[in-house]
Amino acid sequence: MSATEELARIAAEVNVCTLCKLHHGTIKAVPGEGPAHAKIMFIGEAPGFNEDRQGRPFVGAAGKFLEELLALAGLRRGDVFIANVVKHRPPNNRDPEPDEIAACAGYLERQIAAINPRVIVTLGRFSMSRWFQGEKISRIHGQPKQVGGRLIVPMMHPAAALHQPQNRPLIEADFRRLPEFLAQAERQAATAAPPEAEDPRPEQLSMF
Ligand code: URA
Repeated sequence: MSATEELARIAAEVNVCTLCKLHHGTIKAVPGEGPAHAKIMFIGEAPGFNEDRQGRPFVGAAGKFLEELLALAGLRRGDVFIANVVKHRPPNNRDPEPDEIAACAGYLERQIAAINPRVIVTLGRFSMSRWFQGEKISRIHGQPKQVGGRLIVPMMHPAAALHQPQNRPLIEADFRRLPEFLAQAERQAATAAPPEAEDPRPEQLSMF
């Protein structure tokens, strides 16, 4: 199955998902959107009011700001894949709960596997804690870590920068470095050992 087909299949499953309580009282699920072969994937927290109405991620005030931040990196939203840790809006925009994050984790894992991005940018503490347990975003934002052949870059959530203007220069500086992070990830991928399927061992060859 192609990445595009797998992403469409995941979205179809998310749209009818009842694995946790979050689907109650929502209008639309928000599976995520973007090119199937995006090199950069953003993972936010959860859909809010506008996202629930439109079924699309980051379309409210935080989304407008995210687009401004992308522009600082020379990117448009159509260049990147945008998803969330949970795919339905929590009541009154409360924080997602551990059982809800766990129920939704399989969808996110499959999205990451299908897209296979070079860089994952986590936005806020819920997506950050998947790769940086026990860390504080104020301490580690903008400091990438290599995990399984890609670069994970923790960044603040755009909404946090909107609500606390002193955070704005920090998140802007992190976004400006995105091209540098992507170049670093591409270099690492180019020098990494090729996957086994493309590098058959002699004993496999001798079978033919
Ligand atoms: N905040 C998020 O984390 N995700 C959205 O989709 C919108 C706002």
